[in-house]
Amino acid sequence: MNCACDQANLCSYEAGLAQLIAAAQPLTESEKLPLADALGRVLHQDLWSAIQVPPMANSAMDGYAMRSDDVQLHTPLPISQRISAGAKGQDLAPGSVARIFTGAPIPHGADCVVMQEMTSTHDDANGQTWVTFSQAPKVGDHINPAGQDVAQGAQVGKAGDLITPRLMGVLASVGFAKVPVVRRLKVAVLNTGDELVMPGQPCYDGKIYNSNLFTLCGLLNNMGCELISSTQVPDDPDTTRAALLAAAAEADVILSSGGVSVGDEDHVKEAVEELGELYLWRLAIKPGKPLAFGHVNGVPFIGLPGNPSAVLVTFLMLARPYLMAMQGRHSIGSQSYPIPAGFVRLRAGPRTEFMRVSLEVSSGHLAARLQANQSSGVLSSATVSDGLLIVPANTKVAHGDMLEYIPFTELGAA
Ligand code: AMP
Ligand code: MG
Repeated sequence: MNCACDQANLCSYEAGLAQLIAAAQPLTESEKLPLADALGRVLHQDLWSAIQVPPMANSAMDGYAMRSDDVQLHTPLPISQRISAGAKGQDLAPGSVARIFTGAPIPHGADCVVMQEMTSTHDDANGQTWVTFSQAPKVGDHINPAGQDVAQGAQVGKAGDLITPRLMGVLASVGFAKVPVVRRLKVAVLNTGDELVMPGQPCYDGKIYNSNLFTLCGLLNNMGCELISSTQVPDDPDTTRAALLAAAAEADVILSSGGVSVGDEDHVKEAVEELGELYLWRLAIKPGKPLAFGHVNGVPFIGLPGNPSAVLVTFLMLARPYLMAMQGRHSIGSQSYPIPAGFVRLRAGPRTEFMRVSLEVSSGHLAARLQANQSSGVLSSATVSDGLLIVPANTKVAHGDMLEYIPFTELGAA
């Protein structure tokens, strides 16, 4: 598989992403989950409502239900029944009103509700309560019509929908106790590098802590993937092959970090080539040099760079949409917003840059402020950023230029 590469063998971000997405084969297996456990999962099939919501017209206010024609200002009407939420009223006797509460069904015969604040009451000698109105009602006043939220037979979910708290509420409102969801995507992570040690271990000469595992673990978790294994792989060809094979035996997707450059100690490339197929793309993006894509024994493999912020950016902008497509999500783009640049860049770079920025308001105007250190080895600037600002290749930036901004919240990286 070749990426549509242009000058200097660099492949554009868009072409690289399109190739990845085209190669994704969505999971087809599903499971039925209790609705409360389905948050963050992907709906496996279209769902329709068997009922209307609300099931019956109900009162939007505490007050009185009546026929609007029966009301004359300052002329009292008797209360003939009391209907609270959850109760079922009787047909409304002509010339009378029903005391009614929010959520209670509108009795047959009534066509409006007057809120109690617009009324006054008095009891007569027989203990009968009468209501006087200070405002004339109109038909439909303060009534939530049956089906105003969801019509019977309406579609309430689409296959590929992400189950958000909002969708969970709607599915509950039409009575789904269980929902069919795509099974969780199983991802194995390999972090390559002789220099890596795990937090909790001593970090002695020449070593650094393995941060990529934790970045990836959080990002995968946020998108509902199952991290089935994580392996720290030394820079050694045999161990790399063995780790790839073990990952391929259990995962739907293998994700690695580091070891895909062209150095003598970068063994991932050759190992994948031996065990399957590998395409090494030189993407025209920054940060993020080469991105490897292929398969090991038929299991898709994505090789991210090693540098921590290149991992963040290539995961968010390339691996994440691919994994979303694998999860069966129908909408895999992330929403971007045009935001004015709060900085100047005099030199146009040859690659699309995904810059860590914070949003700030100065003199009443919103602008994207560049984090000072954009190095691909610097991750800490991402924690004080709000999102990524996309500076297209070969583009200078003047103060106020509108650029596409993607918040980390949109990218599941908050
Ligand atoms: P590589 O792509 O393997 O040449 O790694 C590029 C840079 O990223 C090197 O400075 C590595 O030490 C660093 N790096 C690679 N993997 C990790 C990791 N898991 N955590 C933190 N830094 C890493
Ligand atoms: Mg390395």
